[in-house]
Amino acid sequence: MKRVYRAATLMQAAHARNLLLAAGIDSELRNQYLAGAAGDLPMFETWPQVLVEDGDEARALAVLARAERPAEGPTWTCERCGEQLEPQFTSCWRCAEADPDERR
Ligand SMILES: [Zn+2]
Repeated sequence: MKRVYRAATLMQAAHARNLLLAAGIDSELRNQYLAGAAGDLPMFETWPQVLVEDGDEARALAVLARAERPAEGPTWTCERCGEQLEPQFTSCWRCAEADPDERR
């Protein structure tokens, strides 16, 4: 197993794991109960960690890197309801109209 993510909170680690799951990558969450009971361990070692199979490491890192980077491109305006939407959304969160650029 390879560690691809480490976070101070379990919520962040769980989120990273969900991103990997959405990309079809199995992962394992470690240290979810260890934080706070650390004792003499270095703090980082007690943080929740997300691990993947060795062969999935590169793909997992790419998925996580993409998620951390703000989406590129301009915001777009929903044709149906006029809502301003961030580029990472491919459909309107308010009325579910698809981004016209995504339908091309
Ligand atoms: Zn809309």
